[in-house]
Amino acid sequence: MRAAVLEDYGEPLDIRDVDAPDPGPEGAVVELEACGICRSDWHGWQGDWDWLGIQPQPGQILGHEPAGRVVAVGDDVENVAEGDSVTVPFNLGDGTCPQCRTGHGNVCENVRPLGFVESVPGAFAEQLRVPVADQNAVSLPDGVSPVDMAGLGCRFMTSFHALAHRADVGGGDWVAVHGCGGVGLSAVHIASALGGNVVAVDLEDGKLEKANELGASETVNASEVENVPGEVKAITNGGATVSVDALGIATTCRNSVMSLATHGQHIQVGLSTQDEGGEVSLPTDLMVMQEIEFIGSLGMPPTDYDEIFRMVGDGKLDPSAVVSETVTLDDVSSRLEAMSDFGTMGIPVIDSF
Ligand SMILES: [Zn+2]
Ligand SMILES: [Zn+2]
Repeated sequence: MRAAVLEDYGEPLDIRDVDAPDPGPEGAVVELEACGICRSDWHGWQGDWDWLGIQPQPGQILGHEPAGRVVAVGDDVENVAEGDSVTVPFNLGDGTCPQCRTGHGNVCENVRPLGFVESVPGAFAEQLRVPVADQNAVSLPDGVSPVDMAGLGCRFMTSFHALAHRADVGGGDWVAVHGCGGVGLSAVHIASALGGNVVAVDLEDGKLEKANELGASETVNASEVENVPGEVKAITNGGATVSVDALGIATTCRNSVMSLATHGQHIQVGLSTQDEGGEVSLPTDLMVMQEIEFIGSLGMPPTDYDEIFRMVGDGKLDPSAVVSETVTLDDVSSRLEAMSDFGTMGIPVIDSF
């Protein structure tokens, strides 16, 4: 089968033939119909995240936002069958640890990020092996296209979990979203659907216009104001109730914390870059004085997808609204290169392998 393989960090992926996967006793093989291209892939392509032990090594197939049809299942698989349309959360769980058994598979004690480590080759390929398919394959509802589901695969569900489960967004609460890439635009859309009044922050007017389309009440172009937190506090008359760092650099993380009102909640969904190496300094005294919460959020448990599907079915959420373009497997490297200059909008999705 064809696959896009990492050879050297920052160099074009090598499109070549590799062996097709075998489901194994507990796994399934999915014929891919769509796969999103994500800033997390860009991080892996850059060689980031060695500080987390998930730096992809040469030979790795990247790609972690898949949607497709099951073409083979192992003998021990009970809940997934050939012909099913599925997506796969990037945060693969083992299905057996205490976290998986209590509905928190996104923080499985043996979590493996799809497409980042050797044991779980990713979805920039014609076929994908889903390990522990009963845990990690999520069946799709009728009437949702694979492209929309690929868009939902990582950034949309990550934002949903962050805002619907980890944060406490109430009707009319001010929600600030710092960074309007794929995960940020998803957060704007979801926070708005959950009843929040959204302030979107980015450096580019085009992304802020898209944020407006997706429900943002107010926007801040961070390249045009000296004091981003001050601007958010002025707009919100004292600070946001919930603020999201949807990028993962020191500036957006600190701006997010400092945009909050007393008792505000900062949600960290972006992982950091080589510049931060996994650590950001924060105004801890201010956080104490204002009883500000710092909340980490990773992906989403596979058991919670039905909540998104119900809101999509009811028209409250539309994952296709953040899908910006469809491309082919051969275009992946050019999309990753464009991300170096923040040159992509929303979520590019591969629909031809
Ligand atoms: Zn992703
Ligand atoms: Zn587990």
